[in-house]
Amino acid sequence: MKILFFGPNGSGKGTQGAIVKEKYGIPHIETGVIFRDNISRGTDLGKEAKGYIDRGELVPDSITIPMILNRLKEDDCKDGWLLDGFPRNLAQAEALDKALQEEGITLDIVIEMVLDRQIAKNRIMGRRLCVNDNNHPNNIYIDAIKPNGDKCRICGGDLKTRSDDQDEEAIDQRHNIYYDTETGTMAGVNYFKALSAKNNGVPRIIELDGRPGVKEVSAELLAKLDAQE
Ligand code: AMP
Repeated sequence: MKILFFGPNGSGKGTQGAIVKEKYGIPHIETGVIFRDNISRGTDLGKEAKGYIDRGELVPDSITIPMILNRLKEDDCKDGWLLDGFPRNLAQAEALDKALQEEGITLDIVIEMVLDRQIAKNRIMGRRLCVNDNNHPNNIYIDAIKPNGDKCRICGGDLKTRSDDQDEEAIDQRHNIYYDTETGTMAGVNYFKALSAKNNGVPRIIELDGRPGVKEVSAELLAKLDAQE
């Protein structure tokens, strides 16, 4: 199964992506993770990418596109993959489509987490971390997991924020790229939707409403994946 997973920062894409990976037993290829891994290992690629990432800009296509196309040729990708964080713009979408056509590989599914920009931003900025346990979700903007006053809703522990969650400029910068329908990520999403329409529904497009809680979104995702098998 070959799957693309789109969703803005703050939509819960990471959590839902892990569920898809589990269901199909395919490698979860996250561009951001590959870059961060290269940075921490001090590779040439990491050194080149770091400045762009620190500024919240996209790493140039000349670096990113071959990196991902080569990754998809590795052994563990033979039976499928879940691509997350790529394509991130129209040029990457076109390059991926072209490479897949050249290799005779069919893209099966494109998943899009749909979430309004302001809600996505609130989700990020409202996130609060429990000092006792990272897995105690608290968010001042989500009713289902609202903290108990200024304490963790599960254990009553103190809450803190993650500094990059409060960097409004960086959040806006990432969202500017995602929601751009001219050349940004949404242009890439629309590219695959048009391809699907032209190609009798291949790849299948799954749109997911990102507004409900994590469990509800997972249930909808799994139901839609099962309905298509
Ligand atoms: P993420 O973890 O997906 O938020 O990615 C972190 C950073 O890595 C992004 O802000 C970009 O600087 C860079 N990055 C991730 N994916 C791509 C991509 N497909 N093209 C260019 N840069 C990317």
